[in-house]
Amino acid sequence: MENGAARTAPAVIVAIDGPSGTGKSSTSKAVAAQLGLSYLDTGAQYRAITWWMVTNGIDIADPWAVAAVAGKPEIVSGTDPAAPTITVDGTDVSGPIRTQEVTSKVSAVSAVPEVRTRITELQRSLAASAQRGIVVEGRDIGTTVLPDADLKIFLTASPEARAARRSGELKGVDIHATREALIKRDAADSTRKTSPLAKADDAVEVDTTDLTLQQVIECVVTLVEEKRAAK
Ligand code: C5P
Repeated sequence: MENGAARTAPAVIVAIDGPSGTGKSSTSKAVAAQLGLSYLDTGAQYRAITWWMVTNGIDIADPWAVAAVAGKPEIVSGTDPAAPTITVDGTDVSGPIRTQEVTSKVSAVSAVPEVRTRITELQRSLAASAQRGIVVEGRDIGTTVLPDADLKIFLTASPEARAARRSGELKGVDIHATREALIKRDAADSTRKTSPLAKADDAVEVDTTDLTLQQVIECVVTLVEEKRAAK
């Protein structure tokens, strides 16, 4: 360390991908908070643009109609892991984007290439401006959005474990219906043409089925620290 100056850790870009209910959000937020990094929930951005489409009466079954207005809403994400925010044209949509209606429509909207181009640009610009580094969670972060990320993690879990976690989050929701809805959404996200849900070749796969959230967080923190030390 030159002149005894405190050495700041180099910026690190972490991509965390995987299907719904694998613990991506809880893990990503906790890892970012623990390591002093920014945090970006890219699913929230796709939900936000879907909310805007629904609110403005756009026929989401018509990809041309969705593509034509994909550039209209202004979506802004706050990247503090302790209090992430999401606004559309200045309105806080953090509640409305979690409704059943948005959840059931988001896969169709996010499959439209013009939507992906728009949201991917936002994601890259946020990652580039995060001075200490960022944890970005989604479906295509390691493969498409940030292919040069320092560390790529792919979280998996059995459909049963994923449905149980989601039902626990959404109180009073039927577990079988949740499982079917999750499987349907993952299938749509994995088979779309543009930038599907996929594990990057150089991603570390972590099966969270039998792990506690704390164990997953510790595992990812260790991997990030190893990457930082090697930089
Ligand atoms: O993570 P979350 O369940 O909130 O994501 C909602 C939806 O957003 C996914 O089902 C998927 O259709 C879309 N998504 C995506 N690419 C990402 C993140 C989310 O297509 N990077």
